[in-house]
Amino acid sequence: MSAFDFDLFVIGGGSGGVRAARMAAQRGARVALAETLGQDGLGGTCVNVGCIPKKLYSYAAHYHDGFEEARGYGWEHDSAPRLNWTTLKANRAKEISRLNGVYGNLLRGSGVTVFDGFARIDGEHAITLATLHADGSPGHQNFTAKNILIATGGTPHVPHFVGQDNVITSNDIFDLEPFPQRLLVVGGGYIACEFASIFNGLGAQVTQLYRGEQVLRGFDDEIRHFVAAEIIKSGVDLRLNAGVVDIRKTPEGLRVELEDGNLVVADAVLYATGRVPNVHGLGLDTVGVTQGGQNEVIVNAHYQTNVPSIYAVGDVTNRVQLTPVALGEAMVVVDHLFGPAAGKPPRSMDYDFIPTAVFTHPNIGTVGFSEAAAREKFGQVTIFRSEFKALKHTLSGSTERTLMKLVVDTATDRVVGLHMVGAEAGEIVQGFAVAMKAGATKAMFDSTIGIHPTAAEEFVTMREPVKA
Ligand code: FAD
Ligand code: NDP
Repeated sequence: MSAFDFDLFVIGGGSGGVRAARMAAQRGARVALAETLGQDGLGGTCVNVGCIPKKLYSYAAHYHDGFEEARGYGWEHDSAPRLNWTTLKANRAKEISRLNGVYGNLLRGSGVTVFDGFARIDGEHAITLATLHADGSPGHQNFTAKNILIATGGTPHVPHFVGQDNVITSNDIFDLEPFPQRLLVVGGGYIACEFASIFNGLGAQVTQLYRGEQVLRGFDDEIRHFVAAEIIKSGVDLRLNAGVVDIRKTPEGLRVELEDGNLVVADAVLYATGRVPNVHGLGLDTVGVTQGGQNEVIVNAHYQTNVPSIYAVGDVTNRVQLTPVALGEAMVVVDHLFGPAAGKPPRSMDYDFIPTAVFTHPNIGTVGFSEAAAREKFGQVTIFRSEFKALKHTLSGSTERTLMKLVVDTATDRVVGLHMVGAEAGEIVQGFAVAMKAGATKAMFDSTIGIHPTAAEEFVTMREPVKA
C-alpha cells in the first residue's frame, strides 16, 4: 500500500490536466484532479472560453457572407437575415455544458477522483484543496500525492492604463449583453485578429488597434500583409501603429482616446494583449518551484520542475499556447511516470512543425518556418507562391482571395514552410503537416496527384519558383 493518497494529483481540469489524469488512470495509477470552477469548468479554457466557443462563433459569423454569396448561385431571399445573439449564446452555452459533462464522464469513467475546488501546493507531496461545504461555508481538505501535475493554464493580461476597468477580455466576450454594435479590439495576435473577424461577421462595426507595423508577429510576413488586407476588405477598421491613451464611460458609450489624438466611441473594448501563466495562490514559493520572468513554471524535457515530484504542462509553462500541444505534453508526462501504452515507445514532444490555424476570415493555416526564419536557419531557400480567387467566388461575387506559399530548403529540397490564407486553411494544412513532419521534399509534393477542383491541389501544382 502506497504511503500517499494518490499516485498523481492533477491541478487544473483543462486540456492538459484532463488528458494527463485520464491517461494516467487508464495505466492503473490512482489519480485525483482538482478544478476550481468545478464540474462546469471541466475542459478548461479551450472548452469554456477558448477554441470551441470561438470556433462556433466563427461558424456563425461565416453565415453573414454566405447569405449574400448565395445570390450568385441563384438563391433568392428578400431581406438580409438578422442575427439573434441571444439564441447564439444560448445554443453555445448548451453545447459547452454538454462538453463539460462529457469530460466529467470520461474522467470518472477512467477512475479519476474529481474534486471541485482551488488546489494549493503545500509541500513536495502535499496539496490543500479549498472547497465549499454543502451550506456554502468555506472548508478545506488535505491530500498527499507521489507526484503533482500543475496544469493551471493561463489568464488574459491587460496592461495598466487609465480606464483599464472599462475593458473586457476574451473571457467576457462570449456572454456579452447586449451585442456590441461598436467593438474596439486592442491587440494584433491570434485572439485580437480572430475576434475582430468574428464580430465583424456577426454584424458589429469593428475597429482593431495594433501597436506595431503589422499584425500577427512571428507569422510569415507575406501572410501577415495578405491577411491584414483581407481583414480590412471584409470591413474591419484595422489601424496599425495605434494605441489607447485612456478610456472613459460616457452616455454615448466608451470614449477611447488614441495615441494619434483620434477618438473612437465603442460599446465594448476587448483587450487581447496576451495571456500570462495562472499561478496565483498556487503555493509555488512554498515549495520553491523555479519560475521564469513571466511567472511561467520552468520544466525539463520530461516536464519535471526543479522539485522532482512536481511536473507542469500546458499554458502555465508559457511555451506554445495551443490545446494539442498541452495534450501532447500531458501524454509525455504520463509515459514518463507510468510507462508507455502497451507495445508503444515512450512519447516525446517535438516543437518543430507544429501546425496552427488562425480563425480569421479568411483563415490562416501554417506549418513550419516563415520565409524569414527559414532564410536564417537554412541559408538559401526557394519560394513558391500562388494567389488566386477561389472557384466558389467566381459566382459568389466575393472579392476574397487566397494565398498559398511554400518555403523550400534549396540544399535538401525539403519543404520547410507551408502557409495559406483562405477558406478552411486549417483543415487543409493539417494533412500537409504530416508530410512535412515526415520530411517531404518539393519533388514529393510535385509527384503527388492533386484533387480537382480544390484549393488544396495548388500546394502540389506550384512548379515555378517566384524567388530563390
Ligand atoms: P487550461 O485549458 O487553461 O486549463 C487550466 C484549468 O486549471 C482551468 O480550468 C482553471 O480553472 C484550472 N485551475 C487554475 N488554477 C487552479 C487551481 N489552483 N486549482 C484548481 N484548478 C485550477 N488553442 C488551440 O489549439 N486552438 C484554438 O483555436 C484556440 N483558441 C483559443 C481561443 C481563445 C479565446 C483562448 C483564450 C485560447 C485559445 N487556444 C486555442 C489556446 C488553448 O485554449 C490553450 O492553449 C489550452 O486551453 C491550454 O490548456 P491548459 O491545460 O494548459 O490550460
Ligand atoms: P498573442 O501573444 O498571440 O498576441 C498578443 C498581442 O497583444 C500581440 O499583438 C502583442 O503585440 C499585443 N500586446 C501585448 N502587450 C501589449 C500592450 N501592452 N499594449 C498593446 N498591445 C499589446 O496573445 P493572444 O492574447 O492573442 O493569445 C494568447 C495565445 O493563445 C496565443 O499566442 C495562442 O497561442 C493561443 N491562441 C490560439 C488560437 C488558435 O490556435 N487559433 C486562438 C487564440 C489564442 P506584439 O506582437 O507587438 O508583442
